[in-house]
Amino acid sequence: MTEGESAGRVFPYWKHAVVWLVRYGEIALKSPGVRDMWERQLMTNIREGQPDGCKVSRDRGRIWVTGAVDRLRLGKVFGIVSVSPCRTCSLEDITAELIRYMGDLLPGTGSFALRVRRTGNHTLSSQEYARELGEAVRDAFPEISVDLTNPGISIHVEIRDDRCYLYHEIFPGPGGLPLGVEGTLVALLSGGIDSAVAIWMMMKRGCRIVPVFIDMPPFLGDSALKRVQAVLGILSEYQPGITLHTIEDTYVARARESLRASGDEKYVCLLCKRRMYRIAEDLASEIHAGGIVTGESMGQVASQTLDNLKVLDRVSVLPIYRPLIGFDKTEIITIARKIGTFEHSIMPVSSCCCAVPNRPATSADPLVIEALEERLANNTG
Ligand code: ATP
Ligand code: MG
Repeated sequence: MTEGESAGRVFPYWKHAVVWLVRYGEIALKSPGVRDMWERQLMTNIREGQPDGCKVSRDRGRIWVTGAVDRLRLGKVFGIVSVSPCRTCSLEDITAELIRYMGDLLPGTGSFALRVRRTGNHTLSSQEYARELGEAVRDAFPEISVDLTNPGISIHVEIRDDRCYLYHEIFPGPGGLPLGVEGTLVALLSGGIDSAVAIWMMMKRGCRIVPVFIDMPPFLGDSALKRVQAVLGILSEYQPGITLHTIEDTYVARARESLRASGDEKYVCLLCKRRMYRIAEDLASEIHAGGIVTGESMGQVASQTLDNLKVLDRVSVLPIYRPLIGFDKTEIITIARKIGTFEHSIMPVSSCCCAVPNRPATSADPLVIEALEERLANNTG
């Protein structure tokens, strides 16, 4: 087999000295057809946002990226479990290349471990290769010792047919499934901590997101919109090109006056959320999205009790996805910090607090809510 040729595929990029090894997780468990499709989607997503000249190829459970590579961007591509920059050489040259590699890396003292993996037909087993290569390294660097349990440095050698890949760094990716393999969802994005994290979690499971922010004059306004845009900037690192829909809606302002007059003010938050669901559902139907994402978490506020979530669910024919439903606020904040939205989400904004009643309903009767909405529709058009 000639250089750069394996299993009938040609990899001209192997001539480059450095290649990035991309590891993926769940994709490998899929049936061959699905796996092929998802690998292709992952490769497309990897290429997106990388500099010109970046090339992506695949071979039996591995994806390779060569040319100009933006490592930080690789760390934000869903589906990637981890990446490693590798040096590559032919199997024939492995001993010399390994000694060169270790010479560049090591200070001359300390300990090391060699981890060898193999794919293809070879005369030696992985262990035999490890032993043989380890001895060559020890001869070349007599002050360095082998320590397999707690080594100063672990050098990985991956032998694939007649090519070898050497690496010692493993950078984590976000995991999950390639963005887009599960289709599209509309997400209600307030810009607060929860909705940003909820969106990220659904992206992680392969859903492309169309976010919608509902501006409710006079309660929200410029500062809330700025916060949403800042959060969107972070989310666009995970879904390049993500586009925000902003919808101005005065329903709550009008409803509030009417509810006040009839002594039903305690229902205003529920009516507000139901209105948001309807707006999201209209958009979802228009763009053929498969459902709606919200940042609701069980019991977090009055509109998120078990009874009230039932009242909200009745609005939409499409499924409502609430990936944070079982999370504590502290857990949500930990994720928000990790993905980078937290600092933006805590920007001070004008909020709807002034519209929230002192004692919002925590267990509303859906029939009462529906009757109220009908009355409002007749009163306010
Ligand atoms: P977040 O939940 O994002 O921190 P929040 O706490 O201000 O924002 P909640 O009252 O908890 O909002 O609302 C529950 C969910 O309703 C949010 O997670 C979000 O999905 C949606 N939502 C709230 N306000 C808006 C808005 N102005 N535009 C779009 N969606 C919104
Ligand atoms: Mg919230």
